[in-house]
Amino acid sequence: MFDHSKRKNFLVRCFTSLERLIKVGLFDCSMCGQCIVRSTGLVCPMRCPKQMRNGPCGGSVNGKCEVDTKKACVWVRGYERGNRLGSGMSKKLDWIQPAVDWRLWGTSAWLNVAQKITDINGHPMRKGEEGDSTKA
Ligand code: SF4
Repeated sequence: MFDHSKRKNFLVRCFTSLERLIKVGLFDCSMCGQCIVRSTGLVCPMRCPKQMRNGPCGGSVNGKCEVDTKKACVWVRGYERGNRLGSGMSKKLDWIQPAVDWRLWGTSAWLNVAQKITDINGHPMRKGEEGDSTKA
């Protein structure tokens, strides 16, 4: 008899690999499984050495990261790009982002949206978990 769970696992792995391939190239993605680049000026916040989802941390000086002073602060880049892109992007940068759910690390953010584990903004949707902070 054909095992459908194996086929499903295979499809999930294929989809996750495809997402990784695309997003590593575009955003230097770490596959956190709860993508918030739609609200961070299309700059991945997980590139921050402190992995801050709400930034900047207050340590950046002249737009540079305090951990690696050769790099631009991820959050300064996000604000600059968000302002350039317009269409409400800079407003979204003011959202308070929920903490990272480490259980989702390495999973497909796209599949997590499709399965209603997170919403399109990468915020948890499971009952009893942190709510949508964009409505605060
Ligand atoms: S927020 Fe997460 S899923 Fe989105 S690009 Fe960054 S690491 Fe990848």
